[in-house]
Amino acid sequence: MGGISDALQGVKSRLDAACLAAGRPAGDVALLAVSKTFPADTVREAFDAGQRAFGENYVQELTEKSDALATLPIEWHFIGPLQSNKTRPVAECASWVHAIDRLKIAERLSAQRPEHLPPLQVCIEVNVSGETTKHGVAPAEVLALARQVAALPRLQLRGLMAIPAPADDLAGQRVPLRALRELFDQLIGEGLPLDTLSMGMSADLEAAVLEGATMVRIGSAIFGSRPRPASTPT
Ligand SMILES: *Cc1c(COP(=O)(O)O)cnc(C)c1O
Repeated sequence: MGGISDALQGVKSRLDAACLAAGRPAGDVALLAVSKTFPADTVREAFDAGQRAFGENYVQELTEKSDALATLPIEWHFIGPLQSNKTRPVAECASWVHAIDRLKIAERLSAQRPEHLPPLQVCIEVNVSGETTKHGVAPAEVLALARQVAALPRLQLRGLMAIPAPADDLAGQRVPLRALRELFDQLIGEGLPLDTLSMGMSADLEAAVLEGATMVRIGSAIFGSRPRPASTPT
């Protein structure tokens, strides 16, 4: 074991401390290790250190790494924006998709999900910061989309996801995360059986746990800074 095992332990300690501070039981929050831009060997190292769920942003990386590591019981999460012409490999390789932002993508994933696999677990991405450049559905449109996605036969709608604009301090980080949490509670109030709030990254993990995250997506705090810009398309 080396750096990655230690970093993984460090993130788990941060998560436990954040749960304690939030009055939540330790282990209440699932850890998704975001391995985008890192090679399959690095994923294997984290797997050997006990990590099972990994997040990828680019379709080609997802398919390459899931092929290379096919013998390992890894749960792959696709967390990047998805174009409609690239849904099929995701429907075939991933267990989860976090960033559903329109019905067309959800319909294609449902139609393309192989029969021998369980339904694809999905979250809707919400644009909680209101920036025009960001992906995600406007908060006012989430309920309608959620009802449509929940009705698709080969998908299981689990919850909401967001990537808020960066903020400097904990109080500032909490504002958009709280907005997502409130939306999540509203959807549950409307009768949607949701259980997953996918929010929190390396820089705002503590704020996310305070605001009720059930799954945090952590990249650089586990794997180090990325070898090329995260925005590089594939
Ligand atoms: C890269 C990425 C992460 C992880 O970000 P870090 O700051 O490296 O922890 C989480 N979620 C999404 C959608 C990402 O693209």
